[in-house]
Amino acid sequence: MNDLRPQRTVEELKELRRLTSDENGAQRVAFTPVWAKARDWLRAKAESLGAEIERDEAGNLWMTLRGRSEKALLIGGHIDSVPNGGWLDGCLNTLAGLEILRHLEDAFGGCPAITVRLVDWADEEGARFGKSLFGSSACSGNLDMNEARAMIDRDGITLPNALHEQGIDFEQVKKSGRQLQHAAAYIELHIEQGPVLLDLDLPLGAVLGTFGVERHAFTFHGQAAHSGSTPMNRRKDAFLAAAKMAPEIYRIADRHGGVCTIGSCLTKPGIVTSVVEECRIILDQRQLDSDALAAMWREAQEASENFAKEGNVGVSSERLWRIDPMPFHAELIDLCEESIREICGKSYRLPSGPLHDAAEVARAGVPTVMMFVQSLHGISHNKIEDTKEEHLELAVRAFDLLALKTIRWIEARSGN
Ligand SMILES: [Zn+2]
Repeated sequence: MNDLRPQRTVEELKELRRLTSDENGAQRVAFTPVWAKARDWLRAKAESLGAEIERDEAGNLWMTLRGRSEKALLIGGHIDSVPNGGWLDGCLNTLAGLEILRHLEDAFGGCPAITVRLVDWADEEGARFGKSLFGSSACSGNLDMNEARAMIDRDGITLPNALHEQGIDFEQVKKSGRQLQHAAAYIELHIEQGPVLLDLDLPLGAVLGTFGVERHAFTFHGQAAHSGSTPMNRRKDAFLAAAKMAPEIYRIADRHGGVCTIGSCLTKPGIVTSVVEECRIILDQRQLDSDALAAMWREAQEASENFAKEGNVGVSSERLWRIDPMPFHAELIDLCEESIREICGKSYRLPSGPLHDAAEVARAGVPTVMMFVQSLHGISHNKIEDTKEEHLELAVRAFDLLALKTIRWIEARSGN
């Protein structure tokens, strides 16, 4: 087999950057003219290698290399970006997938044993309407239609109207689910967007799954009282009880792994001449293991009650959002590690903190795995987002190997 050219992926990433970025970074926000331009550019490249091209009801773009079997390996990415985004988030996956299609077309004389499909998901980032994974959640069937129907952007345009401008009928988006009919596996390459591989000095890692999330608000209820006349031992200070949660969540994460963040704190009456009467904090907890995540939430709740009692104040909590962890397929994780080891000697397994389209495909029941490549600075969604070119090339090579191994895995499973 020959003709995999990882350097071509790097060149194409630079070409896309020239075409769709300005001095502040990438500007490929979904359903905008710059995004449409990026899509046309991608479509032309896929056409020239002989792929069948189809845009589905949700605006996802499918580029298919038809094989002898209908069973399909799916390779996913997203060419949309956040405003002022980086040059790799989402489009590395897409363009690496394109290079793999070229390689397979070449290796199998145009007709691989199974069908291979590259999908460019629509609006992964959710930058305009504030909700990510639009195209993949429509396809997986998990999109909440009532919530999505009501979403509006900053200019007051609704999501259904924005889609209409792109020739997409909002009420039909879930029909895109038919695309998963013959899906036998899904693989996705992505920049890590965090510092784990960087700190370990490793180029690539196999992703175990995406974190589940428990997001809750705690409201501590104390009593407003004059800051000058109320002795310290007579206070019902809602802020004091809430503040004790800050070091506590680090202890919880220490015990269970995962991550905990208090990202917001609001006090009432919010003046320095009064003891805080009411304090509302928002806690976000994430873990790959659902039992551990449940324990983390339970311990946070118990701690809030203990701190409230200590401070002679009340506390109540309310759930704002939750999502289950989405572990990836054990055998595909093994294949991913094998591919990485064969290309760069050493691999590492890590969970994903951010959500990805892969989580939606896995939720739909398709065996799924992701591969991460190191991010310099551990930073993304920023124009300084970067990865060493040699690591990008290793990523394309290891991801190509994963595609070949997954094709063999699909064949073996279906007894071909
Ligand atoms: Zn992304």
